[in-house]
Amino acid sequence: MPGFFQAMSSTKYIFVTGGVTSSLGKGIISASLGKLLQARGFSVTIQKFDPYINIDPGTLNPYEHGECYVTDDGAETDLDLGHYERFLNVTTSQANNVTTGRIYNNVITKERHGEYLGKTVQVVPHITDEIKRNIFLLGETGKYDFIITEIGGSVGDIESLPFVEAVRQVRWDLGANNSMVIHLTLIPYLKAAKELKTKPTQHSVKELLSYGIQPDILVCRTELPLSMEIRKKLALFCNVNINSVIEAIDADTIYDVPLLMKKEKLDERVLSKLKMTSKHEPELEQWKAFLGKLKNPVNEVTIGLVGKYVSLPDAYKSIAEAFNHAGSQNDCKVNVKWISSEDINKETVKETLGGLDGVLVAPGFGERGLEGKIETVRYVREHKIPFLGICLGMQMAVVEFARHVLKLDASTTELHPKTKHPVIDLMEEQKKITTKGGTMRLGAYTCKLKKGSKVQHVYGDGLIHERHRHRYEFNNKYLDQMEEAGMKAVGINPDSGLVEVIELKDHPWFIGVQYHPELRSTVLNPHPLFVGFVEAAMDQKKNVNS
Ligand code: GLN
Repeated sequence: MPGFFQAMSSTKYIFVTGGVTSSLGKGIISASLGKLLQARGFSVTIQKFDPYINIDPGTLNPYEHGECYVTDDGAETDLDLGHYERFLNVTTSQANNVTTGRIYNNVITKERHGEYLGKTVQVVPHITDEIKRNIFLLGETGKYDFIITEIGGSVGDIESLPFVEAVRQVRWDLGANNSMVIHLTLIPYLKAAKELKTKPTQHSVKELLSYGIQPDILVCRTELPLSMEIRKKLALFCNVNINSVIEAIDADTIYDVPLLMKKEKLDERVLSKLKMTSKHEPELEQWKAFLGKLKNPVNEVTIGLVGKYVSLPDAYKSIAEAFNHAGSQNDCKVNVKWISSEDINKETVKETLGGLDGVLVAPGFGERGLEGKIETVRYVREHKIPFLGICLGMQMAVVEFARHVLKLDASTTELHPKTKHPVIDLMEEQKKITTKGGTMRLGAYTCKLKKGSKVQHVYGDGLIHERHRHRYEFNNKYLDQMEEAGMKAVGINPDSGLVEVIELKDHPWFIGVQYHPELRSTVLNPHPLFVGFVEAAMDQKKNVNS
């Protein structure tokens, strides 16, 4: 019985709900609170419950939902998990992201196995019990002082009701000192009235109350500071202590938010509600050093990001953040120029890419924009502009090289299934797979880097573990020809022999990786490939100007 078990354990549960609108930044607030608690010496993890029916976001269009973040254990997850990892510098797993689809799938599978024989299977208690089981999974490992659970969507949505009900039950099971609810809400500013308005928040707290949940803390997203008067009003109408009304004012960068939350004493309020005493004040020296460098760059470079989903930068969230981390490390502001691969062709390539200090060709799926990516690679290869190709970007580098250097009529079978020279082809184990969800090559794999290669120098290491999400791969039948002509396979999976990294011999910085380095970049551990790429872009800028 989870309730009983948890009452005995010392893990504290913090739930974060959202009200009024979506996109208030629950993920960033959760990650910031997690950071502050971690910086006080506690062990913390964050999980997200998403109300949609997809079993995971792997099958969602990045235009709708932003990037799909992949964990070490190969789970395809919500992009908020990326924030958790970047802020806390710890890895997450499948247990950290659960959707309505997964919950129902588990319950229906159990039903088919006869686990509920004789019973009518219902939302309450069967679905809510399954949600609770998942809420407690990480806590039961005994590894964490705090589990922060973010409930996706807004309070009042039909879809999130079972999750809200499960939170109500957990609060009851665990008691007030072991669990709490933080409600993130919006305080809009009405220009005409020149006033911040509390009414939407009052309504959304009322809605929560109607489900049996009294929030302990209100975190208020606002464009302007909250006056004492507004705080008092919110406290009075929403039954919270005045010091539990927390201002979350718009910030220059998401990395400011932990410091803003500290100023508002969010962590202190949480500790006091949960009757925890802190080991020490938050130690944020490294974090502050990172921020200081991020905000006061000495250099500046412009890097083109060529991709298919550039009109929604969230689709490349981890790449954009990896540039922030690497930029800070190099005291360099990285301007990212978002370029749609469909806009690139022989006529436009020079005016679009000329003058950039580096070009990244992004991951992606499907045929659209592939020729533009190939044209991009050709330009940066011939003009010796620093290049980083990620996943599909690496594959396009291989196709480009085969076409224009080896003079083969080559392609990837993703674009041309019947191509004469499939230099990128479906992996053997993928050929039999017909279903889509969760069936790619996913998660962390080992890769051995060749001694003396640029990439080995960049990593400062010979054995690396990086995360994957793809179906196609470098076709080893072409390896010898490629290497002879100057494209070297410098990273190989030691178990399967799959090519993971390629680089060019006669180019200052041209690296393509089959994996996703961006998923492992954090504030405290910027990814070496991004650090090296930004360095190369800085060199490029110097050379062009000198
Ligand atoms: N579409 C390519 C594949 O499946 C690349 C995937 C990616 O860029 N993540 O192999």
